[in-house]
Amino acid sequence: MLEEPNVFKNGEVLSPEYLPEILPHRENQVKAVADNLLPAARNRKPQNTFIFGPPGIGKTACVKFVFREFEEYSGVKTVYLNCWRFNTATAVLSEIALGLGLFVQRHGWSKDEIVARLVEGIKKSGKGLIVCLDEVDQLIFKDQSVLYDLLRINQYVSNPIGLVFISNNPHVFAKVEPRIRSSLAIEEIEFKPYNLQEMKDILEERVKHAFTAVESGVVLLAANRAVQLGGDVRIGLECLLKAGRLAERENESMVMVKHVKEVLKEAKPVKPKILKENVSEHEKLILDILESEKSLTTSGLYQMYCKASKKPVSDRAFRDFIRHLAELRLIKVSKKSGNIRMVSKKKTIDL
Ligand code: ADP
Ligand code: MG
Repeated sequence: MLEEPNVFKNGEVLSPEYLPEILPHRENQVKAVADNLLPAARNRKPQNTFIFGPPGIGKTACVKFVFREFEEYSGVKTVYLNCWRFNTATAVLSEIALGLGLFVQRHGWSKDEIVARLVEGIKKSGKGLIVCLDEVDQLIFKDQSVLYDLLRINQYVSNPIGLVFISNNPHVFAKVEPRIRSSLAIEEIEFKPYNLQEMKDILEERVKHAFTAVESGVVLLAANRAVQLGGDVRIGLECLLKAGRLAERENESMVMVKHVKEVLKEAKPVKPKILKENVSEHEKLILDILESEKSLTTSGLYQMYCKASKKPVSDRAFRDFIRHLAELRLIKVSKKSGNIRMVSKKKTIDL
């Protein structure tokens, strides 16, 4: 009997949410973050850290990686939050409390009640606590008071909370009140995009666990595409996943160069998967509007957005969305005219 060819060993490994066993080419950053947090394991104050760099280059993965090791090897509790989901002080504080297994009522409790609950819980546990606020720009733009609250908690407990912030925007702390900024005493760690060889090594490692066999050249092609489009590893992963599916459909026993080439030819945007975690509902709406219009002025776009949205945000918050979308290189704001347009899909987000 002929065996069914099977190209996939474990396709999950190619999903952007999968946290690999090793992070090639981020050893130094992993060590730097771990070193900063280590004092927490000895009941001393950890070094607060700010990680920044463009999207898709392992910032979140690096912190989750260190957190996983920390939980395993030290008694320190870690809580990871994405500020797209938790973008008010109350939401963040409640989520930290829930992460510690404390009871809080998200609605109906005042911020001070949650803070008091946290202080009590941390004191009782007698253990260190590290909190990561990923995409912290969202919080800083909307409700930076939580930074003050977290510092306030530290005055009451013997094991101060260690904080790790992540953002694509290196200047986000410039928007924080100077007094709070200096109390946070943050150390910055910059993440730089991978070069082609590094991207190839990273994808190669994932491919080893994802596919049963690949033709030589497959990974290089995918890595090249990812580097060309700005260095987001997720582009390479998605490209490989699609090539794998194609190989499977064609009943091949391995992923071949021809499959990747076919995928690279496709002109379909990969927007939803790549952007799922990065773009809010409001921003999706803004992108939808721009998709059907060639270009718009900021105020024209804001007007259309207000009409289309059930609960439009303020003009200021809207401008933050525009800035974020421009940072993700999904839209372009003309320096000359101030007009906004989608970045050509062919160039940016297609595989
Ligand atoms: P960022 O937070 O910088 O936007 P992520 O940490 O989410 O990026 O990384 C995007 C994807 O790339 C994830 O699937 C992640 O596992 C993967 N990735 C990034 N860097 C590495 C690396 N050095 N080794 C393995 N996978 C990586
Ligand atoms: Mg991230």
